[in-house]
Amino acid sequence: MAGSVHEGPEFGVGDFVLLHDISLDAFMENLQLRYEKNKIYSYIGEVVVSVNPYKTMDIYNQSYVDQYKGREIYERPPHIFALADSAYKTMKRKAKDTCIVISGESGSGKTEASKIIMRYITAVTNIGGRQEVERVKDVLIKSNVILEAFGNAKTNRNDNSSRFGKYMDINFDFKGDPIGGHINNYLLEKSRVVYQQKGERNFHAFYQLITGATDPKLAEMKLVRNPDKYHYIRQGGDSKCPTINDQNDYRSVMHAMKTLGFAFKHAETLWKIVAAVLILGNIEYEAQDDVHDLAEVKDKQMLANLAGLIEVTNDDLNKALTHRVIAAGGNVVDKGLTVSDAYYARDAFAKAIYDRMFTWIVKRINEAIDPKSSGVEFVGKNTVIGVLDIYGFEIFDNNSFEQFCINYCNEKLQQLFIELVLKQEQEEYMREGIEWQHVDYFNNKVIVDLVEVPHKGILAILDEACLSVGKVTDEMFLTAMSQKLGSNDRYTCRQTNPSDKTLEHKRDFRIKHYAGDVTYSVIGFIDKNRDTLFQDFKRLLYNSEDELIKMMWPEGKLSITETTRRPATAGFNFKNSIIALVDRLATKEPHYVRCIKPNEIKSPSKFDETRCRHQVMYLGLLENVRVRRAGFAFRAQYERFLLRYKMVTKYTWPNYKGSAFDGVKVIIKHMGFEKDVKYGKSKIFIRSPQTLFALEEARDRF
Ligand code: ATP
Ligand code: MG
Repeated sequence: MAGSVHEGPEFGVGDFVLLHDISLDAFMENLQLRYEKNKIYSYIGEVVVSVNPYKTMDIYNQSYVDQYKGREIYERPPHIFALADSAYKTMKRKAKDTCIVISGESGSGKTEASKIIMRYITAVTNIGGRQEVERVKDVLIKSNVILEAFGNAKTNRNDNSSRFGKYMDINFDFKGDPIGGHINNYLLEKSRVVYQQKGERNFHAFYQLITGATDPKLAEMKLVRNPDKYHYIRQGGDSKCPTINDQNDYRSVMHAMKTLGFAFKHAETLWKIVAAVLILGNIEYEAQDDVHDLAEVKDKQMLANLAGLIEVTNDDLNKALTHRVIAAGGNVVDKGLTVSDAYYARDAFAKAIYDRMFTWIVKRINEAIDPKSSGVEFVGKNTVIGVLDIYGFEIFDNNSFEQFCINYCNEKLQQLFIELVLKQEQEEYMREGIEWQHVDYFNNKVIVDLVEVPHKGILAILDEACLSVGKVTDEMFLTAMSQKLGSNDRYTCRQTNPSDKTLEHKRDFRIKHYAGDVTYSVIGFIDKNRDTLFQDFKRLLYNSEDELIKMMWPEGKLSITETTRRPATAGFNFKNSIIALVDRLATKEPHYVRCIKPNEIKSPSKFDETRCRHQVMYLGLLENVRVRRAGFAFRAQYERFLLRYKMVTKYTWPNYKGSAFDGVKVIIKHMGFEKDVKYGKSKIFIRSPQTLFALEEARDRF
């Protein structure tokens, strides 16, 4: 839209709020038109919609930084720099914390967007060239290299897919220069440690170690330089990824660890843990005898190699891998595992040790980027820009506990969005002295409640099932849930009676999410929610001679009788972390980036209409437009408005002598738009986009 974003009409409208017709078809047509004309960014009010270009765009260089620096969001064509600048400006000028929430499905460009924002902030700060600030910037950027090595993987959707959610606060001093930060991580996809689908890989770190470590280092770790030799990293079928150079990345990670001040010894331990997981995956069991099916480790040398890496005794390791010690009624019982139980325990061990390592890495990065230790002299108020790069809504053919958590998180964020956008609008109307008119939109609170309400929500029912004594199956949980939630119109049980052989046996439930219906298979919910790791492993690791490994497992200190209390479930922890996240975001002034993936084949020129349409729906973009248009489509300060439209009447051209407010009134009266506008204290509010189009046309005719 020429009026607001300095682009010609051939590019469609830069702001979806200005569409003539608010329909999905009109939205899609505009999005596609813009994408095909290389306009990857658009707005919905102040929300940035970004379509992954899948090609290098020359729109992030210094000249672009200069074009957006210090400008108002509407003064230049839509760009993510405008949003970064707006967040930065608010933070700096008003000394207010701001945050940027980036969402979208896998491969849509969230992580790239967060890096572009970081780069922009880096480019516009530290004008004084303070050395300590340069160091902070370097450390913040390098922390990403480490996180991506251990937390990203090649998936079928994205060669560098983040397998965890990330929220990062960047702290600024009163001059507006970065002085440090803090990262919160959410739900690492640890199942990937032991299993990958065809075409996918494990976390990058595994391949980096195998290809990047020196020969002596590999020999010391008892590894061979061939990824196909390791069960945990070869299941996807192809260990190489053409867009990734594991060998170079290994060096970058080492370098980054050094920059962040990781102790050399700790860095060594991290790689040793990666190596240990690789070897663990190759541990095989056989039955001790034909009668009992009790597990025994086949290859004793391999066991010894593993014990050496994690610095525990062979005996302790052997015991932990094949036995379980349980406290039952005051007695401590030592029970041998069956072969299948032992494999299950091995995989649980591998996942836990990797997950715990990742948590430690985040903690260590936080120490390195802690503003208090940055060395930058610190005066006055410390303000923050938070950047959230988190998994978008997921609907797969088979949806499980992970998708359930992720989609719940998106419901929470959508709710926050609705509340904040409406709140912001309302506050602006109040400030401007304009009457607030309520317009209907869908409030997804009912769905959030369905999941999280105490006692009656899905997570509470799941916890109850997990904590009850005796054997509880996923199906029993489903039955209990359906009894309690049967009357909720957002919930449908799709369980069939197993005795009815004419039907395919279904163990599903469906939730009507704000972004669409999702059917979840209940299989695995109990197990994934319990997320227990046998105490034997915790004790084993706590007894490691390696100082860092010991430190990662403090709860291994407890004796068996002290540990009967069940640890919190995965669902409970996730819910609390998301609630804390939302509370944190709610205190900040939010900015939104909604990312869209144009096609499944990483092509720079294909706009897959059906796929994009789905995403526009799942992201609730049309809803965003509606919320935004709940009151007024457009608003502008009197001075700016007059400057832009003074040529449309002879009374205001070339210069209006009176006040800007009077000048604006003259224009509106002359054009006959009095019924469509309201006058606030400092701004004019225009209800319908058509009015703005007419003004723009009049301006073009001049
Ligand atoms: P996931 O949820 O899997 O982590 P994501 O949304 O973070 O996905 P990215 O990793 O940011 O996705 O982007 C995927 C790929 O798309 C990038 O590796 C890059 O090749 C390309 N890409 C994304 N955004 C841009 C951009 N602005 N310019 C050029 N290429 C981009
Ligand atoms: Mg990502």
